[in-house]
Amino acid sequence: MSTPQEVTIRVGQGFDIHTFSTDRHRPLVIGGVTIAGSPGLAGHSDADVLAHALADALLGAAGLGDLGNHFPDDDPAWAGADSTQLLAKVVDRVAEAGFGPVNADCTVIAEQPRLAPHLPAMRRRLTEILSSPVNVKATTSEGIGPIGNAEAIAALAVVLVRQRRSDGGSSRTSSRAEVQPGSAIPSESAR
Ligand SMILES: [Zn+2]
Repeated sequence: MSTPQEVTIRVGQGFDIHTFSTDRHRPLVIGGVTIAGSPGLAGHSDADVLAHALADALLGAAGLGDLGNHFPDDDPAWAGADSTQLLAKVVDRVAEAGFGPVNADCTVIAEQPRLAPHLPAMRRRLTEILSSPVNVKATTSEGIGPIGNAEAIAALAVVLVRQRRSDGGSSRTSSRAEVQPGSAIPSESAR
């Protein structure tokens, strides 16, 4: 038997749902990817349902509450905000709390549009922001309920985070990129 691991890992889960907007000019943004040809979702920010679920999962894993605590949806600063920037800030706050993401697995539930062609871009974008592997899957609601009636899109996320130890105890398995608190947010703008 090996000695007990001193590395602390924690799990977090997130859920979000947004209805479709009546504003025909609102873009649909999921996982930081703008999907042309579909109505957008209603929300204070860009309503990126996947970025929000993933951010909530990260905050939950680090014991930091939820996205609404950190970025109140009545704060004008976040009106129309690019949610990948919120997600990057959440990654920073999780890092400040001493944790870094190990991996995340996400599911987007949407009757329309068809998301399969966009999943690789979502995975790339979110993996870049977390500096850890992010998997994104898509499914439908089989035509039932508000999601099945194409009134809303929901997203689920589960993330594992690992405590960063400054005593060198975990140096053997360094994560791929140590996100430094206050480091610059990836500046790729929303399209
Ligand atoms: Zn949301």
